[in-house]
Parts: sequence; C-alpha cells; structure tokens
Amino acid sequence: MIDKYASLTGNWNYPTKVRFGAGRIKELADACRAAGIRRPLLVTDPGLKPLPMIMDAIGTLEHGGLACALFADVHPNPIGADVEAGLKIYRAGHHDGVIVFGGGSAMDAGKAIAFMSGQTRPMWDYEDREDWWTRADAAGIAPIVAVPTTAGTGSEVGRAAVIVDERDHTKKIIFHPKMQPVEVIADPELTVGLPAHITAATGMDALSHNLEAYCSPFFHPLGNGVALEGMRLVREWLPVAVKTGSNVDARAYMLAASSMGATAFQKGLGAMHSLSHPCSSLRGTHHGLTNAVVMPYVLVHNKSAIEEKLAASARYMNLKDQSFNGFVDWILQLRQDIGIPNTLKEIGVDLDMIPEAAPMAMEDPSTGGNPLPMTVAAYETLYRNAIEGRLV
Ligand SMILES: [Zn+2]
Repeated sequence: MIDKYASLTGNWNYPTKVRFGAGRIKELADACRAAGIRRPLLVTDPGLKPLPMIMDAIGTLEHGGLACALFADVHPNPIGADVEAGLKIYRAGHHDGVIVFGGGSAMDAGKAIAFMSGQTRPMWDYEDREDWWTRADAAGIAPIVAVPTTAGTGSEVGRAAVIVDERDHTKKIIFHPKMQPVEVIADPELTVGLPAHITAATGMDALSHNLEAYCSPFFHPLGNGVALEGMRLVREWLPVAVKTGSNVDARAYMLAASSMGATAFQKGLGAMHSLSHPCSSLRGTHHGLTNAVVMPYVLVHNKSAIEEKLAASARYMNLKDQSFNGFVDWILQLRQDIGIPNTLKEIGVDLDMIPEAAPMAMEDPSTGGNPLPMTVAAYETLYRNAIEGRLV
C-alpha cells in the first residue's frame, strides 16, 4: 500500500469545487449558499427517500435557514417523464437551484431538471450530438449542488446527464458545460450503508470509466494520468469496501476513484459502455454491473490496440503478471472476488436481444472512443461472447 495521508479530507477545485471528507455533509447549507441557492429542490431516489440521511440533510438545510422541497420519483434508469415531473415541482415551488443527492439515477435526473429549468425547447433537442448543446440558454441552467451516495457514476463532477428516451428506449446524453455541479460534497460516510453487491457493481462502473478513458485513443494526457491512479485505487480498495463496508478509508478512496473516472472520461469511453447502455434500456440491467460483466470480453477484443498500454498500467498497479494477459487475469479475479457474474446471460440478457441491441451499441456515443473502430457485426460477436462466456 502506498497511500499515506494525515487525513482523507481536502478541498479541491478540480474539476469543480469539492468538499471531500467524512462528516462534511454538515456543510450542505453552506454549499448551497456558496452556489447561490436559497430555495433548493432536493432530488433523490425512492430508495433513499425514507433513510435518515435525507431527513438529516433537510434538517441541516432548515437549520441553515433554507426551505427545501423533495422530489424522489426517479426510475433506476431515469426517463424523460421523471425530468418532466421534477420540473413541474421545481417551477411550482419557485426553486432557484437543485441538490442532487444519491447515486447515478438521482444525480442524472436532478441535473437534467436544473438544466431544463430555464429552457424553452423539448429536452431531446439538447442531446449530445454535434453542437446541439449550444441551443441551450446557459443563463437558464440552475446551479447544482451534488452529494453522491454511491461510488461509481462520478456524475457529481460530470457535465452530462443520461436519460432514457421512452419513445425509442434509448439512453440519451444531455450535455452542457454548465451542468457540472458548482459544489460537491463528497462524504464517504454516506456510502458506508451500501450493500456489498451495490458497492461491487458501482465500484466496477468507476473502474470501467477509468479503464475505458485510459484505453481511448484520443490525445488527453491529463485524462490518462487521472485514469491510471483511479484504476490503482480501485485495485487497492474496492475489495476492501465490498468485504468491510464500514471501512471509511476504503469508502473514501472509492469515492475519489469514482470522481476520477468521470473526470478522466472526458477523454472518451468505449465498447463497454456502448454494449452496456442497450442492455439497461432494453432489459433494465444495472449499469455498473453490466459494464463489469462485459469488461474482459471488450479488453480481449481490443487487445491489438491496447496491449502495451495495459502492460504499462499493470506495472504501475504492481500486478503480479505485468502484461496484457496479467491485466485481464486481474480483472477476472477481481470480478470473482466481489461476486460479479461472468456472463450477460446470468443478468437476464439473452441472444434474442442481439439484433436490436447491436445497432444501438453502434450508434452509442461511446463507440467513438473505443480503441478499435467498431462495426455492428463486431458488436454482435461481442454480445454473443459475453452472453455465452467465450473469452476470445
Ligand atoms: Zn458508466
């Protein structure tokens, strides 16, 4: 272990303002004020809504003189109608900012509500294609304070929200630079109650962000550096966080690795995410879990383009076998140790889905970041391999 710090607390301004450390949720009212928010709408998910941490947060806000309303009708993969419903409440309550409090779904839905609060066109007109984001009125985007309660999505530092378009069941990315939360409270104590299987699945999402960003061919040396250290933290701390959920140090490192993944993937993602998105849209699979399942199949597929890169990261991460194969072996072992299934079949994806899913994967924006150029046929093969457990 090479991590030695006096305390795992810090104030960062990269890539946005982050108040990192155990117990810092107490600063929520302060963070809202710093963001210029006086009447926050707190967006969370139905699972978190009854938990003490939400009541405590509302108490902290009230104590700090901020009246807040709660919106929690958010699907696990948030849909356009969730954003619409939240917007109604936002406007009726004359709110002036959004607290996104939760995992990826609450954060994505809440960020989209803040984005849409001052726009006039339908949300899908702002999908992340070409320069569509410039259609948005930047002054109409409400400030966002983000409080992650899982360590995986990294959406607290991201500038986009992923929302399912109910019309064609595709996941669409709504992007705008001003959608990045202006204040983040990254308090690892909020994640200690996460069950082991969610810790594992979300942690693997963080790994997939760092790993795909690192492998993406675009020139972005900053992203490479962040991604490499992010992967090392996952290697060191994800098994600990899964096994001993109450270990706040492990939770802190995983929360950092999660933010690092989302910071790094400005460099690009790849076929793990393009394969995963249709599975979630069509079969409702968990995003991080799906990435974890397809991960080794995608690495082996991309081998010719990433062999050297992964050997270099195996050296940095001090793996036993410091080669491409050693890296893949580490992934396989990690998945086994933390209870990730080996095939898509085990998470409810069958061969029947391929004809519809492969073209969707090809169209997915993550496809452009894959180390090798992709085709629909290549996606068909990858789906088949991941469903049947053929690692070639
Ligand atoms: Zn992801």
